[in-house]
Amino acid sequence: MTPGVLARRVASNAMRLLPVTAYGRVIRREAIGLCYHVVSDGPVPHVSPLYPFKTAAQFRADLLWLKARFRFVSFPELMEARDAGRALGPNRVFLSFDDGYAECFSVVRPLLLELGIPCTFFLTTDVIGNGQALAFNQVALCVQGMEAMDGARVRAILEEMGAAAGRPLADPEAVSAWIRPALRNPDSPAYATLARLVEVAGVDVGAFLRTQPYLAAEQVKQMAAEGFSFGGHSRLHWHLGSIAGPERVEHEIVESCRVAAALSGASRVPFAFPYDGFGLDRGLLAEVLRRNPFIGPVFGTGGVAQEEQVLHRMIVDHPPKRPGVPSTLPGVFRDAYLSEALRLLGGARAAPPG
Ligand SMILES: [Zn+2]
Repeated sequence: MTPGVLARRVASNAMRLLPVTAYGRVIRREAIGLCYHVVSDGPVPHVSPLYPFKTAAQFRADLLWLKARFRFVSFPELMEARDAGRALGPNRVFLSFDDGYAECFSVVRPLLLELGIPCTFFLTTDVIGNGQALAFNQVALCVQGMEAMDGARVRAILEEMGAAAGRPLADPEAVSAWIRPALRNPDSPAYATLARLVEVAGVDVGAFLRTQPYLAAEQVKQMAAEGFSFGGHSRLHWHLGSIAGPERVEHEIVESCRVAAALSGASRVPFAFPYDGFGLDRGLLAEVLRRNPFIGPVFGTGGVAQEEQVLHRMIVDHPPKRPGVPSTLPGVFRDAYLSEALRLLGGARAAPPG
C-alpha cells in the first residue's frame, strides 16, 4: 500500500465517524449536485451493457435517505437565490437526471411526485420524440445482439472490429470499451464503424426507436407543467472538448437549451456537459453564456469540486454491491468530499474538475 492510499483509507475511516451533513460545513458548496441517468426494475437493453443502475426501490431509498438529512433545492430556487445574491444555506441538494430516457417519465416522475421532490432533467434534444438513437445506446444494443449469437459469428465480428481498432478485441465488451470513447467526437471514423457494427450485430435501430426509449415532447411538457425543470445536454451527446470548432460547440449548447426552454416554457435553462467538461475552453464557455443570457448555470460531473462557471455533481447511478445496504449515497458522499479535500490540499498540482 502506498502512503497516498494509506492516507486516503485513514481519512475515509475517520470521516465515517462524522455525520454526512458535517462534510458540507467544512467544504461549503452552493448546493450538492446529484446526477442519475436511468432507474428501472428490469434490464434496459440500450443502457444495461454500459453501466449498472438502481431499481425503483433503491432510488426511493436514496430519496428517503436524502430527505431525512438535506433540503432539496429546485432550479428556480437556485436561480432566485443567485439573482438575490443570497446563500441557500448548508446541505442543499440539487437532484438531476441526464440524457432524457423514457424512464424519467415512467419510473422517476411518479416517485418524485409522491415524495414532493424537485428535479431537473437535462435533455439530449435531438433524440426527444425518438427520431434517432444516441451512439452509445446503439453500441449497447450491439453488445446484446452479439451475446445472443453463436461463437463463430461473434468471432468474425470481433475480428472485423479488431482490424478497425488496430488491436485484438476479445469480446463484445471490449468492442464497446474501444468504440464508445471514439464516438465522443462527431468527426471520428468510428461512426462508419458503428454503422457497420449495427449491421453485422443485427440491430434494428428503427424497431428500437419504436419502443420509445427516449422522452417525447408531450411528456416533457407535462412534466414541466407538474413543476419539474429542464435543461440542455447537447443535441446528440458529443463531448464538447472533442468537437472541432467553437461555432459547433456553441451550437450544441445553445440549440439544446433553446429546445429545452421551448418545451418547458422556462425563460432560463441550465446546461449540463455531456460526459464532462474536460478540454472545453472556459473562455469560450463564458462567451457563449454572455451571448445567450437565457442559458445557465452550467453543470458538470466533478463531484463536489468547485469551479467559477460550473456547478459540479456526483454521478450516483451505481446500485449497492451488497444486499442489505439501503443506499450507496453515504459512501459516494464520503468519496467525493475526500477527493475534493485532497484536491484542495494538493493545491496547484491538483487535477481540474471535469
Ligand atoms: Zn449524458
